[in-house]
Amino acid sequence: MNEKKIVLIGAGVSGLLCGRRLAEAGHSVLILDKGRDIGGRLSTRRTDGAVFHHGASSLPDFYSHKELPEFGLEIFKRAEKEKIIQRKGNLFEPINSVADFVNYCGTNLNIRKSCEAISLNLYNKTIVVKCRGGVHEKTPYDLLVLSIPPNQAKTLINKQIYKFDSLIGKVQMRSSAAALFSFDINPEPVKEKHFSNEKVHVQVENNRFKCEQQLFCLTVHTKEPFAKKVVKNDKNTIKELLLKEIIDAVPFSLPKPTYEAGHRWLYGFTERSLGKSFLFYNEENVGICGDWCLGGTILDAASSGIKLAEHILTRYNLFRLNYLSL
Ligand SMILES: Cc1cc2nc3c(=O)[nH]c(=O)nc-3n(C[C@H](O)[C@H](O)[C@H](O)COP(=O)(O)OP(=O)(O)OC[C@H]3O[C@@H](n4cnc5c(N)ncnc54)[C@H](O)[C@@H]3O)c2cc1C
Repeated sequence: MNEKKIVLIGAGVSGLLCGRRLAEAGHSVLILDKGRDIGGRLSTRRTDGAVFHHGASSLPDFYSHKELPEFGLEIFKRAEKEKIIQRKGNLFEPINSVADFVNYCGTNLNIRKSCEAISLNLYNKTIVVKCRGGVHEKTPYDLLVLSIPPNQAKTLINKQIYKFDSLIGKVQMRSSAAALFSFDINPEPVKEKHFSNEKVHVQVENNRFKCEQQLFCLTVHTKEPFAKKVVKNDKNTIKELLLKEIIDAVPFSLPKPTYEAGHRWLYGFTERSLGKSFLFYNEENVGICGDWCLGGTILDAASSGIKLAEHILTRYNLFRLNYLSL
């Protein structure tokens, strides 16, 4: 089989591990992501002594995940061995930062950041991407992988795949917003770690991992249906709205925050999954993966991406190397 030009859209966990499985079998893969950083819903902002993990910050126990292929298990086991992640009860947490874990997943991959796929022509096998500075590039491919949320895939596919819209119609994603605040108060008297009201969950995050040298840190995550109400606002309004909810939810008074950051996702969590590991369209040469295919966790994203890669390798007889670098 001749070398195929594989273009993969989306550098979240599913895209990174799909790309890595293909790359470690000896194939060149170009990954494009619209974000300034890779990781998708594992995102981190680091400023002035606080690290805000906007999205996921822990992995479920990968040793007992039923769907995870051997390649994924090996990747995560090695991350544990190399002290990138560590066990915390039933979960695994990155030791230094979520960004380290994301970069580890994307080791040796050819990734272009700040490049958004904006239109797709399945007939001509070209994708138009808008990269930094607004430059539009027409990128040809032999094989395309979309590892993006279902509604974003639907927009790109734009009815070019028969019944795709009705197939993913059953998938339900839920919006989410979150914020991190730190306060210049002594955390000692606060013994509880969780607070909530009908709109939000609040968590005390006094640890080096999330708060570094800040005195008292709180993260707040929206519950439904409040998430739906706030998600269309800009980040500053979200911060203000969530700070009000924190003040309402905690049983002590808070000064003005010394640090604040907010974030939102239109498609944050999977409410109802597709129930298939991935989608693959032979005639169109398109594969689609993401957490939403199987469930809603990092491990579901990893399983979907790796299984799609293995399907591609088998389908095109692309197994040239086994994953030797593991
Ligand atoms: C607040 C929050 C907390 C969570 N906590 C946990 C947790 O503790 N543990 C856990 O296991 N899971 C958690 N999750 C779920 C977990 O984050 C996801 O399951 C997982 O990260 C999904 O990975 P993915 O690769 O499928 O999708 P994504 O991470 O969404 O990746 C999709 C990527 O595609 C890119 N993209 C989209 N459209 C385009 C386009 N047109 N062109 C170019 N790029 C594009 C995006 O920028 C993104 O990087 C959490 C999620 C949220 C929102």
